[in-house]
Amino acid sequence: RAKDEGGGMHFNYVPSLHADAEERRTLELSLRNAIGKKELELNFQPVVNANSEEVVSFEALLRWNSTEHGFVSPGKFIPLAEDTRLIVPIGTWVLHEACRTAVRWPGDIKVAVNVSGEQLLERDFAQNVVRALADSGLPAHRLEIEVTESVFLRDGRLANQTLEEILALGCSIALDDFGTGYSSLGYLRDLRFSTIKVDRSFVQGASEDSQESLAIIRAVVAMAQSLEMTTTAEGVETAEQAAMIRDLGCTKIQGYYFGRPMTTADAHALVTKRRAA
Ligand code: C2E
Ligand code: MG
Ligand code: MG
Ligand code: MG
Repeated sequence: RAKDEGGGMHFNYVPSLHADAEERRTLELSLRNAIGKKELELNFQPVVNANSEEVVSFEALLRWNSTEHGFVSPGKFIPLAEDTRLIVPIGTWVLHEACRTAVRWPGDIKVAVNVSGEQLLERDFAQNVVRALADSGLPAHRLEIEVTESVFLRDGRLANQTLEEILALGCSIALDDFGTGYSSLGYLRDLRFSTIKVDRSFVQGASEDSQESLAIIRAVVAMAQSLEMTTTAEGVETAEQAAMIRDLGCTKIQGYYFGRPMTTADAHALVTKRRAA
C-alpha cells in the first residue's frame, strides 16, 4: 500500500517500520501464551555478603524460551510485557514461583523479586504478595521486592502507599539500578528501603581507573549508611572489582564473579552444599 501513497524516500523505511511492528505483534502473541505453555522459567543469581562471601539472597530473573522464537532476552521481552501490561499476570506468576522456590532454601536466605511500575500500581498488588507468601509458606522477611526509581515518577503517592503496605507485611524493599534513573533523592527520604543496589555501570566504570565512578560509589555507600540502609554492588565480574567494592564498604556483592543466574536446581545445590561444608 505504501507504493500507492508515498514518494521516493518513503519506500526505504516504511516497510522496515512495518516489519518491526509485525515482529512485536507476533512476539506479543507468543508471550500471551507463554505462561500456559510453560515457556517461562526463573533463574536465580546469588548475592553474597561482601566480607564473608556467604550467599545471603538470590535475585529471581525471568527467562523465556519460546517454541516459536527460541530464547528471547529479558532486555527485549520485559519492555514488551510492560507496554502490553502482560507483565501484570506474568509478574504474579514470578512472585508465586519465586516464593515456592525460596521456601526450600536453608536458613534465612532471601529471594529478591523485580517488580515493574505496571504491577506495583495495580490495586491488588499487595494482596498478590500476601497470597504468594501464604500459598508458599515463605516467611515475609525472606521476600525482598526490587523496584527502580521510575516507579516513583509515574505515581509517587500510590507507589509509596503500596510499598508501605509491603513493608508492613514484613518484606523488605530494594532500590534497583541506583544512579541510572532520575536522581531525585526524595524517595530515599520517604521510604525505608533496606538496600540500595548500585548500578553495574558504576562498578564496571570504577575498575577502569575512573576516579568519578569510585567517588560516586563511595558517596552512595556513605549516604546509605547514614540512612541505615545497606548497599549491593551489581555487576561484579572480577576479583579486582570484588576487592575494590569490599574496600569501599558495600555490604553485598552480586555479579558473574560470584555466580551467574542459574537454574532452580543449581541454586538449591549451591546453598545446601555450602551449609554441609
Ligand atoms: P536487574 O534487575 O538490574 O537485574 C540484573 C541484571 O544484570 C540481570 O540481567 C543479570 O543477569 C545481569 N547481571 C548480573 N550480574 C552481572 C555481571 O556481572 N555482569 C553483567 N554484564 N550483567 C550482570 P537480565 O537477567 O538480563 O535481566 C535484565 C532486567 O530485566 C533486570 O535487570 C530487570 O530489570 C528485568 N527483569 C528480569 N526479571 C524480571 C521479572 O521477573 N520481572 C520484572 N518486572 N523485571 C524483570
Ligand atoms: Mg533487579
Ligand atoms: Mg539491577
Ligand atoms: Mg535493570
